[in-house]
This record gives sequence, structure tokens and C-alpha cells, in this order.
Amino acid sequence: MGDAERMKRVARRIVDRANEGNRCVVVVSAMGDTTDDLIDLSKQICDGVPPAREMDMLLTTGEQVSIALLSMAIHSLGKEAVSYTGWQAGMNTDSSHGRARITEIRPERIFRSLDEGKIVIVAGFQGLSDTGEITTLGRGGSDTTAVALAAAIQADLCEIYTDVDGVYSTDPRVVKNARKLQEISYDEMLELANLGAAVLHPRAVEYAKHYQVALVVRSSFNQNQGTFVKEEAVMEQGIVVRGIAYDKNVARVSILGVAEKPGQLAKVFKALADAGINVDIIVQSGITDGRADFSFTLTLDDLDRAMKVIEQIRGEVEFREATSEANLVKVSIVGAGMVSNPGVAAQMFEVISGLGISIKMVSTSEIKVSCVIENARLAEVVQALHTAYGLDTNEQAFVGGPSVRR
Ligand code: ASP
Ligand code: MG
Repeated sequence: MGDAERMKRVARRIVDRANEGNRCVVVVSAMGDTTDDLIDLSKQICDGVPPAREMDMLLTTGEQVSIALLSMAIHSLGKEAVSYTGWQAGMNTDSSHGRARITEIRPERIFRSLDEGKIVIVAGFQGLSDTGEITTLGRGGSDTTAVALAAAIQADLCEIYTDVDGVYSTDPRVVKNARKLQEISYDEMLELANLGAAVLHPRAVEYAKHYQVALVVRSSFNQNQGTFVKEEAVMEQGIVVRGIAYDKNVARVSILGVAEKPGQLAKVFKALADAGINVDIIVQSGITDGRADFSFTLTLDDLDRAMKVIEQIRGEVEFREATSEANLVKVSIVGAGMVSNPGVAAQMFEVISGLGISIKMVSTSEIKVSCVIENARLAEVVQALHTAYGLDTNEQAFVGGPSVRR
């Protein structure tokens, strides 16, 4: 919700939904760039990293503004609404500030208000830890609040309203004829979300899958039918790849000439893990003269810290040198049908190398293949893959129908 006008339109839409006879619980995020602005403000006040507790105290105010205003807007339309903060709504979390996990939801108050005929407005992205501290769920966490709450109150449907019409075969800003998907499976959506598609928060998809929440992603700007996310999505004839995602936030580290004795690799990754650095793709090359080279990818933001950690363990781990590379991107194809269709990965390698681009690293799972390449020609690669896997048509044929699962 960008501004007061948008807020009023959202209120109108909720009231329409309620007038259709639905009992509505609405989870809202902060308005526009509020969260980013609050983060900026904290940076102006604080040298270095602000205390995590105070950061959560600050950021949760954004959602609190939204719930109050939205509730007022609904009142002006003549309907009763009540706003609840995360803690009022019974959202309990663990105490990891900035990336808390929901531990329990006690929605009694929500049910009471629904029974009183009210529309319930809940602040997304926030909760209360068992020590009574205010927490946040990580950026984009309102999706997670919505899905978890939908599961807790056994909602018939959880609609995620966003600024695009649904989940697309790839980023429509990169590929013009990217198409909106009618349906996608939880597993495919989870891969896409983890691999860089920003449309849904990965944690939200995990909850949806775990609790089998019927989920639809749709636009808050229009009435178009969105994308249904469900256990099994209908496969189109001849289409194996459902979507293509990319992640620009990737860097590579290589540790060269590592002495070939037991425990060396473990020490490196233990040190990185202790520093809270997540490692993604790991590749080890052959051993020459008792020494091995290996490389891994990680989030670009963690690169400097990772290089420091590696230099610090020089005493414990014997290696010749550590190098790194930024300006990379990880491009991934995702589709549940891949398991039973050999040659999907080979086709990806062909398409990329056909453009004269070298593939630096590869990783696969049953339903995805990821390639790390230089980021300079990303758009070209995504477009070529989109065409090669037959995703370049207008609208996906609508098969199966939007079954609402319970
Ligand atoms: N307002 C929070 C954020 O910007 C939560 C959300 O948008 O889902 O990350
Ligand atoms: Mg947001």
C-alpha cells in the first residue's frame, strides 16, 4: 500500500470480499518504502550495526501504521474492523531478532473478533518472543505471517496481494513474453523463491507446503486471476521447465592448493558457518601433487567477511591461495517434470554455451538445475532459455482449474 488513496482502494476491496459473505483476516505490510526508510534512519543515527532489539522495535512501527490506517479506512466504509499487532494476534516467535521464526500462534482474539462480525487486520512481519521481546521475521516476512496465520485459523484460502499479476515463468522485466502461470507446485515455488524469484518469501512457501495452505498470488491493482500454488500443479503438454529464476547476489571463492589430508574442508566450512556465512554450491577439482583446489559460491554481501575468515584459518588449514570473483549470477531452471525427463540439464548447457558463454559452476536437484555465469549477459541467457524450453507463448493453456485445497 503506497499511499492513502491506495489504502482506501484496498479497504474497498476487503469490504467487497466481506460483503460476499467471507470472514476476513487481513495481514498487512508497511506502506511503500517505509521499512527501507526506517533502516536508513537507523543508519543515520548509529555508527556500525544497531542493536538488533531496537532495530525490531523500530521496524515493527511501519506495520503498526498500516493496520491502524487500514482499519480506519474500513470504518469509513461503514464496516467494523479491528487492528491487531503481531503480539495481540498471538504470533509467538523465537528470540532471534531480525529473522525470528514463528513458534506458536494463538488466534483466540482473532476468532472472537470474527465472531463479532469484524474484519480483522493483523500487522505482518512481527511477533513476540517468549521473553516478551518484539521480533521481526526477516525482510518480506508479511507473506510468512499471512500463510502461517491462514494455517492457524484454517482459512479456506490465503490470497497474497502483490504488485504483479502472479507468478511468472521468469522475470517479466527481463523477458517480455514471460507468462503468468496458472498454477505452480509448492516445491517448484519454493525452489524459485530460494533461487531469486522475489514474488514470495521462501519461508511462506515452506509453511504453505507444510500445512497445505491453499495459496494464490494475485495483483492488488486489478481483478485478474492470479497463480495458484498447490501440492501438485498441472503440467502442460511438452513443458518440463516451469520457471527460470536468477540471483545476482552471488560471488565465488576459490581456495587453491589445499593440502590433501583429512579434515581440511571441514575446517574451512566450520569456520565459515561459525561466522554465520552460508555456502551454496561447492565444487572440488582433481588432486595434483597431493593438493586440491576447491570453489564455492556464497552471497555477495558475505564475500569480504568470508575472505577474512579464510585468511584467519591459514594456520589451521594448509592452502596456497584464496581468490574470489564477484560480477556473477546464478541462473536456474525449475520444473517438477525434470526428474522424469533426461536431457533437460544438457539442453541448458547447450543453450548457454551456444551463446559463447562459459559455465563456471553447476548444481542440480531433482527439480532444478543452476548454472553460475558472468552477469554481463544475463538477460540474453534468460531469454534464450525461456525460448528453448518452450515458455515463450502468450498465456499458458488453462488446464485443471483453480481447485481450492483444504
Ligand atoms: N515491511 C517488511 C519489509 O519490507 C515486511 C514485508 O514487506 O513483508 O520487509
Ligand atoms: Mg514489503
